[in-house]
Amino acid sequence: MAEKKTILVVEENATNRKILCRILNDEYEVLGAESEGQAFDILNEKKKNISLVLFDIVLLVIDGYSFLKKCKSEGELQTIPVVVIAQNNSDIDVVKALSFGAVDFFTKPYKPKIIKYRVDQIINMRDSTRLFNNIERDMLTGLYTKEVFHSRARDLLEKKPYKQYDVVCMDIENFKLVNDTYGELEGDRLLCFVADSFKKIILSKGGYAGRLGGDVFVGILPCFGQNYEVEMVNVVNEALSSYPLSMKIVVKFGIYQPSGLKLTIRAMCDRAKFAVESIKGKYDVLYSFYNEEIGSRLQEEQKITSEMKLALEMKQFQVYFQPKYNLHNDKIAGAEALVRWVHPQKGVMQPTSFIPLFEKNGFITDLDRYVWDNTCKKIRDWRDKGYKTVPISVNVSRTDIYNPVLADILMETVSKHGLTPEELHLEITETSYTENPKQIINAVENLKSLGFVIEMDDFGSGYSSLNMLNELPIDILKLDMKFIQNDSHERNNKNILSFIISLAKWLDLLVVAEGVETYEQVQRLRNMDCTYVQGYYYAKPMASEDFEELLKSSQVDDEEVSTKVYFDTGRIEVNIAKGEKKTMLIVDDVEINRAVLVETFKEKYTVVEADNGAVALEYLNEHFEEIEIVLLDLIMPVVDGFQVLCEMRKNENTHNIPVIVTSQAGENSESKSLAFGASDFIAKPYDRSICIRRVENVVAKAKLSLQEQKLRPILNSLLEIFD
Ligand code: C2E
Ligand code: CA
Ligand code: CA
Repeated sequence: MAEKKTILVVEENATNRKILCRILNDEYEVLGAESEGQAFDILNEKKKNISLVLFDIVLLVIDGYSFLKKCKSEGELQTIPVVVIAQNNSDIDVVKALSFGAVDFFTKPYKPKIIKYRVDQIINMRDSTRLFNNIERDMLTGLYTKEVFHSRARDLLEKKPYKQYDVVCMDIENFKLVNDTYGELEGDRLLCFVADSFKKIILSKGGYAGRLGGDVFVGILPCFGQNYEVEMVNVVNEALSSYPLSMKIVVKFGIYQPSGLKLTIRAMCDRAKFAVESIKGKYDVLYSFYNEEIGSRLQEEQKITSEMKLALEMKQFQVYFQPKYNLHNDKIAGAEALVRWVHPQKGVMQPTSFIPLFEKNGFITDLDRYVWDNTCKKIRDWRDKGYKTVPISVNVSRTDIYNPVLADILMETVSKHGLTPEELHLEITETSYTENPKQIINAVENLKSLGFVIEMDDFGSGYSSLNMLNELPIDILKLDMKFIQNDSHERNNKNILSFIISLAKWLDLLVVAEGVETYEQVQRLRNMDCTYVQGYYYAKPMASEDFEELLKSSQVDDEEVSTKVYFDTGRIEVNIAKGEKKTMLIVDDVEINRAVLVETFKEKYTVVEADNGAVALEYLNEHFEEIEIVLLDLIMPVVDGFQVLCEMRKNENTHNIPVIVTSQAGENSESKSLAFGASDFIAKPYDRSICIRRVENVVAKAKLSLQEQKLRPILNSLLEIFD
C-alpha cells in the first residue's frame, strides 16, 4: 500500500485542530502546530514529505503574513501549497493571503466533504506539476531548467558556505531580431549553440549551467579569485564569430558575487541579470559586475518604464529645436529636433536619461514616431504662417531602422502634413552602420531613394572606417563632438579633423560640426573650411516657440544687392548672389565685356567686377579666401592681364586660384598666357555655353588637385600616427 501523504494543520485552537484531523485522517497523515514557530520547526524537519499546509488566517494576520512571505521565497518550501482557513467574514484578509501566495481557502464552519475534495485536488495537482518540474533538463538546450538550477545552486552554497561562488547570467544581444529575421528555427539553433559553449566553459570551472528562459542563461561557479570573466567572454564570443549567420551575434555577461546565503537564489540570479541588462546596447562592453549603483539604476529604470506610456498619452514629451548655422554667412541653415520629457515631478528631463532605456525596452519606436509627427506638424505650421523654413532633422534610432515598415511610416508622416521627404533630414547614428552594415545600408538606401536627406550622426564616435564612407548612402556627415571638444591644440587631433573635412568634401558630403562651444572652435572650423556648425556657442536646444521667434527674425531675404567698393586705384563692383555662393572675380576694363559675363554667371556666383588690374590685385590681396575663379582680360591699360597673372602666381595666397584669360580671338596670346600660369583661355566675343563649360572644367580640375595637395600631407601624417 502506498504511503500516506502528510498534511500540516496550523491552528491555534486545539478543538479545531482535532476536527480537521478527523476530517482528513482517513486518507492523510495529519500533523498539528499551534503557532507559526512550531509550524516552521516541523516544516524544516519534514518539508520533503509535507504535501499541503492548512493555516488559520487569524495566525497569519497577526504575523503580517510573514509565514507566506517566507514560504514563497524559499526554494523547497515554495512548492508546498498553503490553504487558508478563514472566518466567514474575513474577505479582505483572504484576498491578501491569496496575493501572498496561498492557493485556496476554506471558511468556517467546516464542510468535511468539500474540504476533502479540495485537498485531494490540490495535492494531485501539485504532484503532477512536480513531475513536470522534475524534468531536470531544458528540452531545447539540455541545460538545467530554472527550478532545478535553483535547487542545485542552493545545495552548492549550503554545502560549502565558506567558499566564494559567482552567479553569472548570459544574454544574447538582439536575440529577438534573430527570431524575427531568420525565423524561430534558426533562433532555436542559435540558442543551442550558445548554450553549448556556455555550458562547456562553466562546467570546466566546476559549476552548473541552466536556462532561465528565452535567451537568458545562468551559471554558478566557484570563484578562485581568478579573473575568469575575460576568458569566459572570449571563449563564447569567439565560438560565435564563426557562427554561420550574416548578422553578427554578441553575447554578454552579468556577474553577481553573493556573500553567503543572505539572498535567495532567485534574487541572486536577478542581480546577475540586472548586471547584464545594464550593458545592453553598449556595444563595446561585454560583461559587468553587479553593484549597488546598478541596483538603484535599475529601480529607477523600472519606475520610468512604468510611467512612459502614460506620459506619451499625456503629451509630456516636447520637441525642442537646436539651430544649425552656416559658417560662411553665420545664418541659420537648419535645425535638429531633440526631445525633452517635461515630467510633472522631475521637471524637464534630458533625453540621455531616458532614450537609452527606451532603446532597450523598445518604446523608442513609439516616441520617435511622436517626435517625427510633431516636428512635421511644426514645419507645416511655420510654413502656413508664411515663414521661410530651414530643413529640420529628426533622430532615427537604431531600433527604428530594423523596422521593416519604417519607410512607410516616414512617408505617411511627411505627406500627412503636406511636406515632401526632401524637407526632412534623418540623423542616423554611426554605430548603426557598423553594427549590421548590410541590413542597415539597404534600409537607408531605400530612405534616400525616396528623397529623405540622410545625415550620419556622431561620425567618429564608433569604428566605421573611412573608406566605408564612400559606399554609404549618406548626404551629410555630422562630426562627433569629441573632435571639436578634445584638446584643440593637439596636433594629431587637428590633423585628423581637417583630414575628415577634406575627405568629406571630396566625396561631396556636407559637414556639420557638433558641440561647438567657443569662438576659438568656430575660427578653427572656419579655417578648415567646414560649412555647418551646431552648438552652444550659437544656440542651445530651445522650445518650439523660441525657435519660431528665431525663424521670424532671420527672415530678411538676401536680395540681390550690388555694392560698390572704392579702392585707391579704381572701382570694384560686387554682385552678391542669393544664397551662399562662391565668388568669381572678373577683371576687364570694358564695361560691356564684364556685363556679359556677370549676366552669364550671376546665378551661380557672387560676381565681383574690377575695372583694372591694380584694383583686382588689391581686392585679391584681401579676399583671396573667397575667390573660386578669376576671369582675366589680357589687354588693359597700366597693369595688364599678364602682370596680374604674374603677381598672382608669385603670391602664395593666390597661387592656386584658377585663372581663365579672356582675349580677342586671333590675338595669339593663348600660349603665352598658359605659360604664365593661366588655367585656360576664352575668346571674345563670348559664347555663353563655352564660357560655362570652360569655367566648370577649370574649377573641377582645380578642386581635384587642391584635394590632392591637401590630403597628401594629412595622409602622410596619419600614416605616421598609425605607424
Ligand atoms: P545627438 O543626436 O548627438 O544630439 C546632440 C546632443 O548634443 C543634444 O543633446 C544637444 O543638446 C547636445 N549639444 C548640442 N550642442 C552642444 C554643445 O555645444 N555642447 C554640448 N556639450 N552639447 C551640445 P540632447 O538634446 O541631450 O540629446 C542627447 C541625445 O539623445 C541625442 O544625441 C540623441 O542621440 C538622443 N535624442 C534626442 N532626441 C531624440 C529623439 O527624438 N529620438 C531619438 N531616437 N533620439 C533622440
Ligand atoms: Ca542627432
Ligand atoms: Ca550627434
